[in-house]
Amino acid sequence: MPAATTLITPAENRFFLLSERARRRTTLQQISALLRAHVTVKADSDFLKPTVRNLILQDHGQWLTDCSHEWQLLASLPYVVNPSESRQAWHHCELCHKPVRYEYHVQNKQNHRELIVGSECVKKFMNAETRYLMVITTEDNFYAVAQYQTLTTAVPTVPTIMFAQPWLPQLPAERVPPSAQVATDNDPNRHDVPKTSHQATTIAGTKAR
Ligand SMILES: [Zn+2]
Repeated sequence: MPAATTLITPAENRFFLLSERARRRTTLQQISALLRAHVTVKADSDFLKPTVRNLILQDHGQWLTDCSHEWQLLASLPYVVNPSESRQAWHHCELCHKPVRYEYHVQNKQNHRELIVGSECVKKFMNAETRYLMVITTEDNFYAVAQYQTLTTAVPTVPTIMFAQPWLPQLPAERVPPSAQVATDNDPNRHDVPKTSHQATTIAGTKAR
């Protein structure tokens, strides 16, 4: 018998609970108590009513997208590389709980709560804007996030031009990239897009120097 499908992983559960504003404004609110009571939710969990299972199946992707917009990299300290070679000395990602040498510091835009997360969870949970800033933030360009925030304060349309869909609406139709090649926020198929992995590897390589 195949293992039951996991509908909500422990890391997703923590992300949903920590994204307070998005949770209050979406149908996530309906399952807040369930999230607190059960770290993992599976398709065959005996506490799961069919109506709730359907709600999760229907809205899960949208919840991830809505919550992702609540977080940004911390401009003053976007990442820290733990100086120790020993995994025992590393902090744990506050979403998946794995030890992480490369810590990314993200902040809730509403309540300013800060989290330490690993690069995998940045890619998995944060929006396109944050993932982009993660990629360009290196030891040679440590204040990329602060610079980007200065830019967007002065020119508030920049994030819309760069990251809002439909992508690049001002381009003539023949120059718009095929949608299949443009990864969207929290598209489940995008997690291991080779380009992103390559960029992350490059960053890690740069920092490890
Ligand atoms: Zn993680």
